[in-house]
Amino acid sequence: CKMDKDENLGPGCDVTIAEINNINKKIRKDIVSLVNTDFFKYFKFDPFKKCTFWENNEGICFSRSCAVDVVEDWDKLPEYWQPEVLGSLENDSTNETETHHTAEDDASFLNELCNSKNDKMNQLESNNDLNYYDINDFLNEDAVLVDLSKNPERFTGYGGQEAGQIWKSIYAENCFSSDEADTCLAKDAFYRIVSGLHASIGTHLSNDHLDTTTGEWGPDLDLFMARVGNFPERVSNVYFNYAIVAKSLWKIKPYLKELDFCNDYDNDVKQKIINIVSQLDSKIFDEDLMFKDDYDASIKDDFRSRFKNVTKLMDCVHCDRCKMWGKVQTTGYATSLKILFELNEADEESKQQVVNRLTKFELISLLNTFNRLSTSIESINNFETLYDERVNGE
Ligand code: FAD
Repeated sequence: CKMDKDENLGPGCDVTIAEINNINKKIRKDIVSLVNTDFFKYFKFDPFKKCTFWENNEGICFSRSCAVDVVEDWDKLPEYWQPEVLGSLENDSTNETETHHTAEDDASFLNELCNSKNDKMNQLESNNDLNYYDINDFLNEDAVLVDLSKNPERFTGYGGQEAGQIWKSIYAENCFSSDEADTCLAKDAFYRIVSGLHASIGTHLSNDHLDTTTGEWGPDLDLFMARVGNFPERVSNVYFNYAIVAKSLWKIKPYLKELDFCNDYDNDVKQKIINIVSQLDSKIFDEDLMFKDDYDASIKDDFRSRFKNVTKLMDCVHCDRCKMWGKVQTTGYATSLKILFELNEADEESKQQVVNRLTKFELISLLNTFNRLSTSIESINNFETLYDERVNGE
């Protein structure tokens, strides 16, 4: 795919692909090192949460043959290449014999690193819900703490009818009750976000792919082209998501000092975040173009509840690792959307409602999602080089 890298990304974005590539090069080292710090590498989620979208498996097939068909003849491959193994989690907290970070410990472990008052405040605030995700995900007793750095997002073999049905349901959320012109921008943004997430996942699974003939992990150019590279719109949507998340980070920049980013814990962590946001620019995305007046407020409510459904659809994913990264990223986008659309810097009350209530898991999701996108963009550029080498016979 040859894209015009000097063209703007589309409505709301006064930035080009080339400019984002440049920003990404500047922040790459810091974001990688940030997500490997103790505060940012642990995520909490409930792998057992019930899927609420289809009862009695209605309309969806849960048997293994429906859930997995990316490689033909799985049964002939060794046990350690089976999708159940590839998609499973290296998990500290579900292992009862582990003393480090057990389920009971997990909250106190992270609380030691970071003040937990915001988590409680968010909980109390549930009747004025500005969240684009279900906050109960992090309050649930069955939730486990997982080390993201030990569970890279990569090829798992998850696919088939079931994964296809989940993607279909996600895209079907983009069906707003009103068809007025004002919904166009919202609809367009909603579509770009989910398509960008889908393309980012497709990039990761192509970049870190298991070759089942050699047993080697590495980039698969043909797979990348078939999933993402041959569709310029999908590539552009990954960059759009980068712009959305980057703008939300830019927007909380003035409050970073006030946030409980482990204030007493690690100045180095804070410095990395400051280095990252210092490279960002407000023109990357203009959120004020959306939801401008009272009429738009109801579109915004619709948008919020539809996006919340996308985050809940992750409970229907039958591959733990895919589900975990799906939760991280949908919560990350949900946090960005809350910052972009619910925070009005001129209004002290909205600042109280949004910034002062950001929880550690929202911050962890936000920065990890930014790293997922940053990694995707690096991979897209590497795939472009591989493609050029192939075409030029180098
Ligand atoms: P799918 O990717 O299932 O797509 C279905 C259809 O959607 C396609 O036929 C196409 O018409 C359309 N489509 C595809 N991409 C886009 C796009 N970017 N924008 C718009 N439309 C599009 N697999 C892994 O190996 N590792 C993972 O970590 C992983 N995580 C996942 C997380 C979630 C939440 C889900 C639902 C699936 C995940 N999968 C993962 C599976 C993966 O996304 C694919 O579903 C699977 O590889 C099968 O791909 P496919 O080519 O059949 O089409």
